Amino acid sequence: MRRFTRASGGWVADRGSRQPGRGAYLCSAKCAERVAKNKRYPGLAASAAEFLKTSSDMLN
Ligand SMILES: [Zn+2]
Repeated sequence: MRRFTRASGGWVADRGSRQPGRGAYLCSAKCAERVAKNKRYPGLAASAAEFLKTSSDMLN
């Protein structure tokens, strides 16, 4: 599972799960697709997709 935190520039992967602020948890690419429809997390799916391009450790 990967935590994403909403920062000023958008969503960022929180590797240590220690960053303050509103966070969202994604456990897979499918998860990202699901939250894409959730209006509470605007932009999260796009940021998660970007993250997945450079990392595969979400898929466990
Ligand atoms: Zn999930």
